[in-house]
Amino acid sequence: MISRTKCAVYYAPNDIRIEERELPAREPGGLLVETVACGLCTGEVMDWYMAKKAPFTPGHEIVARVIEGDGIAPGTLIALHHHAACGQCPTCLRGDDVHCGQWRSSRLNPGGLSERVVVPPEIATSDVVALSGNRTVESYVLTEPLACAIKSLRRARFEASDRLVIVGLGAMGLLHALVAQRMGARSIAGIDLNPVRLAFARDLGLAALDPTEGSDVNGDVVVVCPGSQSALDLGVSLSAPGGRVVVFTPLPPDDRWPVDAHKVYFDEISLIPSYSAGAAEFVEAVRMIEAGLPTERLVTHRLALDEVQRGYDLVREANEAIKVVIEL
Ligand SMILES: [Zn+2]
Ligand SMILES: [Zn+2]
Repeated sequence: MISRTKCAVYYAPNDIRIEERELPAREPGGLLVETVACGLCTGEVMDWYMAKKAPFTPGHEIVARVIEGDGIAPGTLIALHHHAACGQCPTCLRGDDVHCGQWRSSRLNPGGLSERVVVPPEIATSDVVALSGNRTVESYVLTEPLACAIKSLRRARFEASDRLVIVGLGAMGLLHALVAQRMGARSIAGIDLNPVRLAFARDLGLAALDPTEGSDVNGDVVVVCPGSQSALDLGVSLSAPGGRVVVFTPLPPDDRWPVDAHKVYFDEISLIPSYSAGAAEFVEAVRMIEAGLPTERLVTHRLALDEVQRGYDLVREANEAIKVVIEL
């Protein structure tokens, strides 16, 4: 059966159109779903990253309802991941899902910012989690970004006895903070330049400081969320001896980072990149949300699909918008 869908199509940063597209038939083992909500990701306003994919339908923070599938009841509320690893190759067996050969080739059709989505069997079988429904859609829509924060802290071997410093208090920084709070971290300090974001973080119970106030804090783990050299430099400068600095966001492909290799060497600071998240963290994110992690507190804006351009403009401003959610 041929079906059509209304979806957002990204052509350029200021040219996101709402179009109608034909959907392919669902493959055996795959799913046809209707999107309930989709969060907008800060990665989707990294223009160099989007340019290589355009035109395409973005959106990978998805809560949906099953229309049709095998072994899953129509109407089931699910969180679904946009890529899936094979789960069997040596890369997958050591937990590095994002480096599995299948990871990037598996994809949703067309993407999360679409009324309907066709999910291929490789994602349907390994990276779709049925939700109990004990939390709101606004809580669940943070599943994918929460999974990325869980992976980042895991890669940094973060433990409750550690002091955590977070550079950048947007949605990703705050999700790291929520997880660390839940783990009972020894201390959590957040650093941001923007007074609106500092106030928002303080409302969540965080010690939020501007870079001048925060110049003396020390982290056993420092998570650097903004993709900029100055943020990375700040992160290294705030690392305690023996600390781990998470590079959470990429720099553009031609940028280089002249790291303070002297300090990195003598303080034995580990630089740990953390890209996306795999199936294990995705399941863990749902578990934490269903156990009451208050992710919905990060949702500041709810917009309709027709307003997606405005939604991305808000994300780009990086001011009062923490998490913008498109409700379908
Ligand atoms: Zn994202
Ligand atoms: Zn694999």
